Amino acid sequence: MDVHVADHPLIAHKLTYLRDKRTDSPTFRRLAEELVTLLAYEATRDVRVEPFEIETPVSPTTGIKLSNPKPIIVPILRAGLGMLDGMVKLLPSAEVGFLGMIRNEETLEVSTYANRLPDDLTGRQVFILDPMLATGGTLVMAIDYLTAKGARDITAVCLLAAPEGIKHLEDELADSDIPVKVVLGTIDEKLNEKGYIVPGLGDAGDRLYGVV
Ligand code: URA
Repeated sequence: MDVHVADHPLIAHKLTYLRDKRTDSPTFRRLAEELVTLLAYEATRDVRVEPFEIETPVSPTTGIKLSNPKPIIVPILRAGLGMLDGMVKLLPSAEVGFLGMIRNEETLEVSTYANRLPDDLTGRQVFILDPMLATGGTLVMAIDYLTAKGARDITAVCLLAAPEGIKHLEDELADSDIPVKVVLGTIDEKLNEKGYIVPGLGDAGDRLYGVV
C-alpha cells in the first residue's frame, strides 16, 4: 500500500478551519470541496493517458488525453458525497458510482446498504472518496467490494486518517497483489474509544449535512 500525505500549507490552513467546531455547514462543505481538489491533484498523478495529435495555431504537436475507459469516482455515502464536487472539478469526464456504507456506532462494524456501480470494473481506475480513515473498516470493505467487481487500480482519497486505521488497512492488504494508493490530507494522533479521530473534526457526515 502506498500512503501519500499531502504536505502543503494551504491544505493545513483549510484543514484547520474544517476542524474548528465553530465552522458552519456551508463553510465546511466549501472547505471540503477545496481540499479535495488539492488532494485530487496528487491522487491523479498516475491517471492513465494516451498520446493525441493536435495543431496549435503555430504547428502540429502531440499532446495527451485521458484514456478509455475513463476513471470512475466512488464516494462512500454519506460523507464521501461532500468530496465529490471537488474531485469532478479536476476529472470532469470521469464516471461516478456510489457505495453506501454505514458504521454501527456501538460495534464499529461496517455494512453496505446501497450501491450503484458497474458490474464489471476490470481495467477501470477507481478513486474512492471517504473523508475519514478512522478504524479502516469502511475502506477495507469498499476495497473488497470493488476488487470483487474486477477493480485492480484503486486510489482512496481521505481528508484525515488515524494511525490505527492506516495500520488496519496495511494489515488487511498485506497479502494482496492489488496496488492500493491512499492520499491523505494529514494523519492525526489516534482514535478514541468511540472510534472518532482525535483531534479530528467530529462526525464528517453531520458536519456536512446536519444530524438526520
Ligand atoms: N467518522 C467520522 O465522521 N469522524 C470520525 O472521527 C471517525 C469516523
